[in-house]
Amino acid sequence: MTLTTDIGTSNLVAVEPGAAIREDTPAGSAIQYSDYELDTSSPFAGGVAWIEGEYMPAEDARISIFDTGFGHSDVTYTVAHVWHGNIFRLDDHVDRLLDGARKLRLDAGMSKAEIVEITKKCVSLSQLRESFVNLTITRGYGKRKGEKDLSKLTHQVYIYAIPYLWAFPPAEQIFGTTAIVPRHVRRAGRNTVDPTIKNYQWGDLTAASFEAKDRGARTAILLDSDNCVAEGPGFNVVIVKDGKLFSPSRNALPGITRKTVYELAEQMGIEATLCDVTSRELYDADEIMAVTTAGGVTPINSLDGENIGNGEPGPVTVAIRDRFWALMDEPGPLIEAINY
Ligand code: PLP
Repeated sequence: MTLTTDIGTSNLVAVEPGAAIREDTPAGSAIQYSDYELDTSSPFAGGVAWIEGEYMPAEDARISIFDTGFGHSDVTYTVAHVWHGNIFRLDDHVDRLLDGARKLRLDAGMSKAEIVEITKKCVSLSQLRESFVNLTITRGYGKRKGEKDLSKLTHQVYIYAIPYLWAFPPAEQIFGTTAIVPRHVRRAGRNTVDPTIKNYQWGDLTAASFEAKDRGARTAILLDSDNCVAEGPGFNVVIVKDGKLFSPSRNALPGITRKTVYELAEQMGIEATLCDVTSRELYDADEIMAVTTAGGVTPINSLDGENIGNGEPGPVTVAIRDRFWALMDEPGPLIEAINY
């Protein structure tokens, strides 16, 4: 197994495709990989991409350097996940993707049903029971190299399923992690690059990750230009105060994980509100959680070097985190079994 950990800059922990695909998870915790073997006689084992109508091993995935998704970040995407062989909320992911595409005037050129089918086929061919599944729509490229005339571009859909990539690996989700509030950068607001459309404008998020590294923390919670909480590099922020949940109503992605956390809260009788969360409210929180497809529900134990609560994962966060992972095995409308 090749395990790459770069907590400082990428904020992601990756396990190389094709190799073994599990990493350590705390014993007895709610986060446990499936126990299975890949049939490596298939070239698709361990990762698959769908590009321009063709399924291919993830290692062979290539797109044009002239795609405006690359050159102009003219793109939207989503990341769904598979856990224990079940894909989670794919419908919601594709709805959010197509809604973002519509707002950006990107045309997927295929139906929702076709996108869903290709996505599930990528996972199925990959054999991965735990997978990070990326669906991207770009404005594509033209006949002429470097074409930028918006009316002459192809519009492209790219889909791939690879081994799980973690923004917060299992141990951090169980034991908690550390964050800063960046001093030098704010999250782009809706009057610039609309953060409610999932996008690859990560300049601010990457600068915040570097600042976190420089200041000895794992990650960052960015404020917006009004000093309210926006989001972090790849996650939404939810705070707990007096037993209630609060999360930003603007300048943050409407995360599928946050939606799930809010639904779980309702089932657990916990009041949950979307509203402005000021920087003061963030620092005064009883608990803070980072929530994302690539990291479940991760407790933030300290902010700018100061403990949040007693510096341990709080009871509300822990209860929601464990319910979240239990959902991955509960038959119902949120999961669909992949036909391997
Ligand atoms: N905010 C940003 C900037 C993200 O990139 C992500 C996920 O990658 C999220 C929030 C969380 O969204 P979701 O729960 O849909 O994964």
